[in-house]
Amino acid sequence: MLENKSDLLKILNLIKKDINNFYKNHKNYLNKILKLIGNNNLTLKSLIKDLIESDKLPSSEELNHIIYQLTLSLYDISKFQLNSLKIPVTNIEGIGEKIAKTLKKINIETIEDIFYHFPYRYEYYSNYGNNFLFCGRLINKEVIYTKYHKRIFCATFENENKEITLGIWFNFTKEYPSAVLQLNKKYNIFGKKTVFNGLNAITHPIFLSDYEVNKIYPIYSLPAKFSNKKFIKYVSSCFKNYFNNLVETLPAYILLKYNYPDIKSALKSIHFPQDIKDARKIELKRHPAIERFIYEELFYLQLGLLNHKSILKNIAGIKFNIDLSKLEEIKEYLPFKLTKSQKRVLAEIFNDMSKINQMNRLIQGDVGSGKTIVAFISGIVAVYNGYQVAVIAPTEVLAEQHFVNFVKLFGSKFRAVLITGSTSKREKDFIKELIVKGEVDFVFGTHALIQDGVKFHKLGLAIIDEQHRFGVIQRKLLIEKGYNPDILLMSATPIPRTLALTFYGDLDISVIDEMPPGRKPVVTKAYSEREMDKVLQFVKDEIDKGHRAYFIYPLIDESDKVELKAATVNYERIKAFFGEDLVGLLHGKMKNDEKKEILSKFKDGKISVLVSTTVIEVGVDIPDATVMIIENAERFGLSQLHQLRGRVGRSDLQSYCILVYSKNISEEGKKRINAMVKYNSGFKISEIDLQIRGPGDFFGTKQSGLPEFKFSNIVRDVKILQQARNDAEEIIRSDPFLTDPKHKIIREVLLQKWKDGIDLIKVG
Ligand code: ADP
Ligand code: MG
Repeated sequence: MLENKSDLLKILNLIKKDINNFYKNHKNYLNKILKLIGNNNLTLKSLIKDLIESDKLPSSEELNHIIYQLTLSLYDISKFQLNSLKIPVTNIEGIGEKIAKTLKKINIETIEDIFYHFPYRYEYYSNYGNNFLFCGRLINKEVIYTKYHKRIFCATFENENKEITLGIWFNFTKEYPSAVLQLNKKYNIFGKKTVFNGLNAITHPIFLSDYEVNKIYPIYSLPAKFSNKKFIKYVSSCFKNYFNNLVETLPAYILLKYNYPDIKSALKSIHFPQDIKDARKIELKRHPAIERFIYEELFYLQLGLLNHKSILKNIAGIKFNIDLSKLEEIKEYLPFKLTKSQKRVLAEIFNDMSKINQMNRLIQGDVGSGKTIVAFISGIVAVYNGYQVAVIAPTEVLAEQHFVNFVKLFGSKFRAVLITGSTSKREKDFIKELIVKGEVDFVFGTHALIQDGVKFHKLGLAIIDEQHRFGVIQRKLLIEKGYNPDILLMSATPIPRTLALTFYGDLDISVIDEMPPGRKPVVTKAYSEREMDKVLQFVKDEIDKGHRAYFIYPLIDESDKVELKAATVNYERIKAFFGEDLVGLLHGKMKNDEKKEILSKFKDGKISVLVSTTVIEVGVDIPDATVMIIENAERFGLSQLHQLRGRVGRSDLQSYCILVYSKNISEEGKKRINAMVKYNSGFKISEIDLQIRGPGDFFGTKQSGLPEFKFSNIVRDVKILQQARNDAEEIIRSDPFLTDPKHKIIREVLLQKWKDGIDLIKVG
């Protein structure tokens, strides 16, 4: 803990207000800080000393590191009460090493984990709806036959009012239930109410102990064969012995604002609700007790992301000069006029580029909205300023596609090179030499480009095709290699704004929300495979008009196990229908030269039908193609289907996407196909994809550097997400170092999370 805390805080706030001044006069600031920390933090002290004594100008990364070390040292983490729940479960009576090991399988290791392991539903042992509870003495038990000659076990119970209820078992043995049932003993039986031989009855009732009667019982998801009753005992024991260790984790004014209960009462209502109405609302995740945890999770994620964003914003980057008159020349190279959206996004990018701060911007837009050209023009600005540009794609096909498009547009006006896995070593060495000497302006490649040790002469801008935050990781790699370029990400899958806030909350986002003019929305239809004749005839009519068609299949070779239509087999069938000369085949196992030859034949109209696997999914741009037939469409993921559909509709001709499904289509497959027929917007499609697959699967959260969501579901909880985002923005804006007393809790929770290594600051 530092003594001169308030003075240090003053300096920190000064720095935060004008970060560039700090960069410029860093020695001045560092000397002041050094005096104030005295001998309290030796590590930090020596870090600062090194920077002061060094002749080199420190990097912004190094200076930011100092700021955050200092922030951390201002607070004494060991005093945080938040730690008081990090007690091993073995401290609970009845939990030994063996049970602890089993619980660990579901990530329960501490008392805190037990408190935060919520029931997923509740059983209410009472008379309500169709549920029937009966307390009575066993007066008879016997095996009887129904009128259909089925053997059943029947037990008769009678209560004090001489009312009778039967317990009925279709599945029974000598041992159960007969052996456990004693005549004249009192039982509480519970289950769904039916009628048997004119009497009230319960089929396969469960037996309740007296203290379970009329109670609401939490049901937990637990390891196989782990008793729910036992777990309830552990939870109760936590409430009995550790309840006072619970510390509020949200500021009071937030609880007040949304009418959320404090942490103690929230946990009580979730584990042991008193009213069945509350329990049902909690099951649906629509109850303040559960909503506060959803909010909390999203709130701290947003705070982390925004905090990261503000750090990124303060990293000193390159100040590019934007010479609009020079850019006018570029117009001549474009075969079209930019759309309004494209111009707006370019203005946003130019605004970033012209500032000293590093740009970290994501361009979102549907397939075919023209993101690439916007990125290219930004690259040209960097080149005009004497810098190099890296264009990084997730696959080689796409890297090559970008390169080809670029050369097609600008010819030899700029010096562009492509490096892929298939570039020979000699050629690669030659190209690398050109790059490091600065004799190249644009370098196209996959992320191997960075890992491969390509050295740049003067890298000014990195354009990265973004796939589920992989771009964010590539940005990190670049910075680690000592580069400090502006970063422009292009999203492969556009996502709705609120979701973008969650996953790219640390980036600035630009949206291209219109298609190039003249584009007609693709008409999408679904047919069963039995209607294939009709489909083929339709394609023939289109081809007769001089248009071209794709047939897409999920696999290359027929697998004997799964009955999939393979491109090679269907190639024959389709050739037979359209005529040998009109049809070509393209698949992933072909050599690159063969692929190129087939594609150029298709492009030139020498063939009219291209039978292909999904190798064409990305990038291929053939405006005369108007029909996209996808067979076994139920096998494809939604975003894949949408990408494929994006291959047609690239001119003013009316285009069609026909999804052919087999009889084995699953419920989810149907949902995907219906979504495709109904919606043309990629934003809408990814929203539905997300609903079907869940966020973890959709975003590949594990690789993305973002935490898994424990309580929230960002599709279901958009409203709470929006509130959490707004609140977090307001806090970061008004009190960036969280020095306001009302933010004390937030500060402690955040620092606690940093300490645990969930530090979002480290992502990127
Ligand atoms: P995205 O990368 O967003 O999927 P592309 O950048 O590949 O889309 O653009 C799709 C097609 O539209 C390309 O053929 C491109 O040349 C063309 N295009 C881009 N912008 C325009 C525009 N403003 N007017 C007409 N065509 C455009
Ligand atoms: Mg593209």
